[in-house]
Amino acid sequence: MDCLFCKIIDGEIPSNKVYEDDMMLAFRDINPQAPEHIVIVPKCHIASANEINAENVKYVAAIWEKIPQIASELGFAENGYRVVNNCGEDGGQTVPHLHFHLMGGKKFTDL
Ligand code: AMP
Ligand code: ZN
Repeated sequence: MDCLFCKIIDGEIPSNKVYEDDMMLAFRDINPQAPEHIVIVPKCHIASANEINAENVKYVAAIWEKIPQIASELGFAENGYRVVNNCGEDGGQTVPHLHFHLMGGKKFTDL
């Protein structure tokens, strides 16, 4: 499949990995919008939040379970962080493989 994040998961395209297990890969965003900007992707091609269902929601649950741990290991959990999912065209999604932006290291003011 011609999917950028599937290729990163498969190691065909390199990434700056910060966490990996059988359910997810977390790597540094190539164009960071905060001092710490991590992209977390499920190891299952889910095109967007619109495609989450009873069968694949376990990947989403696993990611959310790990978010505090990843933030803690990177040293910004205490101060807080922001998690963003962009869905579809109006949501500003540019890579059609579900992902969560985990951002920290600054105080976010706008929504
Ligand atoms: P979105 O706009 O929500 O679809 O987010 C896609 C994100 O992937 C953007 O923040 C990009 O900077 C990031 N991105 C695109 N290509 C790469 C790459 N090769 N390695 C790391 N991050 C990437
Ligand atoms: Zn994919």
